[in-house]
Amino acid sequence: MIYADHAATTKMSATAMAAMVKGWEVYGNPSSLHTIGQEAAVVLQQAREQIAACLDADPKEIYFTSGGSEADNQALRSAAAIGKRQGKMHIISTAFEHHAILHCLEELKAEGFSVTLLDVHENGMVTAEQVEAAIQPDTCLVSVMYANNEIGSVMPIAEIGAVCRKHNVLFHTDAVQAVGHIPVSVKNDNIDLLSLSAHKFHGPKGIGVLYAKKGVRLYTLIAGGAQERGKRAGTENIPAILGMAAALQEACDHMEENTQHCKALRDRLIAGLSQIPHSVLNGDPLHRLPSNVHFCFEGIEGESLLLLLDQKGICASSGSACTSGSLDPSHVLLAIGRPHEIAHGSLRLSLGEENTMAEVEYMLEAIPEVVSYLRNMSPVWRDLTSGKKSFLL
Ligand SMILES: *Cc1c(COP(=O)(O)O)cnc(C)c1O
Repeated sequence: MIYADHAATTKMSATAMAAMVKGWEVYGNPSSLHTIGQEAAVVLQQAREQIAACLDADPKEIYFTSGGSEADNQALRSAAAIGKRQGKMHIISTAFEHHAILHCLEELKAEGFSVTLLDVHENGMVTAEQVEAAIQPDTCLVSVMYANNEIGSVMPIAEIGAVCRKHNVLFHTDAVQAVGHIPVSVKNDNIDLLSLSAHKFHGPKGIGVLYAKKGVRLYTLIAGGAQERGKRAGTENIPAILGMAAALQEACDHMEENTQHCKALRDRLIAGLSQIPHSVLNGDPLHRLPSNVHFCFEGIEGESLLLLLDQKGICASSGSACTSGSLDPSHVLLAIGRPHEIAHGSLRLSLGEENTMAEVEYMLEAIPEVVSYLRNMSPVWRDLTSGKKSFLL
């Protein structure tokens, strides 16, 4: 099988697995005062320092969570709690965030917050100017994702962060698709709160980090013991934390070569798939994750495309793993203005270091074949080619 769905999740690296085995061997509870417990406390601290260094943060600013979704929820809840105390109940975010953000914002709305969701340009970008124009005297938080998980566009995060600093508004970024793949520095990027998830960079599932800049008081989602500076209770998942730290270190150490490799594959795929008539590349061609290829093909159903590609040994996605299984078109594609008919025919290929140019060449044979096959069976396509309906692409 060719695995081209790295934005959904990645295979654990051998380094991360070895680190996890060590984590199971160091079995003590880091809160225990005895030697066995303190051995665990030491490796926990080392992992915290390693992760902090990769993000340009202080170890005291790293809070372990159960993954990206929890970090997103805790970030929004924290900023909302701070805002509420100051009488600031307005939040700015974007229409193409991950559901972990959008659904949490829905909850906050029901609790009395007002939310502005910024429009996304057709190229999949949100600008610092848009953010600045939306800031009000009672804005307590701006949350803009670092890179979009479906269409791969990378936002001008440092500029957006600078605007937020200027107006004294907290800035959160869901950096789950960015960390370990493109350079992220919480200092250079002017970030107050950041979410990441290990399984998107060859680490284990069920573990992530919420970075919170010193002075930003976190809201406690999970009450209990005093772990994570009292902000996230529960005995630390040492194997997962060590696996995450090792995976992040490895990803950051090899970022440049991985980027070169993935970009070459990505650009070959984009050039090849652009040859398919009545298709469009989604997301900005330049400000784009090195691994992301995302197209819409007119006149086909994304679901059937995925099933046929699977039969040909290609694991791909229509966009987000969270929306597949539902018949609604992707909120991301609707946010960039793709009409429903077009949004249904989407294909995301997200690459990783393990993919090869031979696999890309195979995909470039298989995908156009499957697209033609589906189009030839489609009544919609017949209407389009007979002129009964006009092409949108
Ligand atoms: C995967 C993903 C998440 C969720 O992370 P989990 O660790 O699976 O909870 C959140 N945001 C983005 C952008 C993602 O890609």
